[in-house]
Amino acid sequence: MPLNTTGVTAFLRTLLTPRDFLPHITIPHFTSLPIPPDPLLHPLGLPPSKRIKALVLDKDNLLTLPYQPSLHPSVTAHLAALKAHYNDAQIVIVSNSSGTASEDPDGREAAALEKETGVKVLRHAEMKPGRGCGREVMEYLKGNGSGVVEGGEVLVVGDRVFTDVVLGNRVGGWSCFVRDGVADLKPSVMVRFERRLVEFLLKRGYKPPNPYAGWKEDGFQ
Ligand SMILES: [Mg+2]
Repeated sequence: MPLNTTGVTAFLRTLLTPRDFLPHITIPHFTSLPIPPDPLLHPLGLPPSKRIKALVLDKDNLLTLPYQPSLHPSVTAHLAALKAHYNDAQIVIVSNSSGTASEDPDGREAAALEKETGVKVLRHAEMKPGRGCGREVMEYLKGNGSGVVEGGEVLVVGDRVFTDVVLGNRVGGWSCFVRDGVADLKPSVMVRFERRLVEFLLKRGYKPPNPYAGWKEDGFQ
């Protein structure tokens, strides 16, 4: 696995804003994500007049086994149900393997994943959860007909805190942490550290940022 230097930098920077490590919602498995997820978010601060207009989905260990191209059979039906609810512009896969400038420079893996899933795979220059990656995500969603005009209409779903959860919070949106990925893996040292950090912060009273409480559009300002 390549060293995600963007992730390391983002981690160090996020230490200054620890709430960015905290997911808004935690679900056991991708198939536990309600369709739509809005009812889980309204009590947390999504205004009644707003709705989630786009889902940003992780790939590895959420939709596929890590670094594998095939959709895991356990998520096929749920992904199909999401695609039936949202239009093509409103679901995008943002991975730190497929579609990245460094790991997939010719976009071959991204194209194969699009064929496999029927979901757009974002080609992006910066790794999750870099601010540049956040900008690339928002530029794509604002320009593709999804209807997204601000980060608070976006939910990022993934199995990793330091990439997926932080990205969701950094785009000024919502983050959904999926506790159990599709792979039955022994949690790595980093995964155990991420989870302990989240528990520690919650015990200390930290809460995830509310996109509609003082955050400006995209959360970048
Ligand atoms: Mg993952």
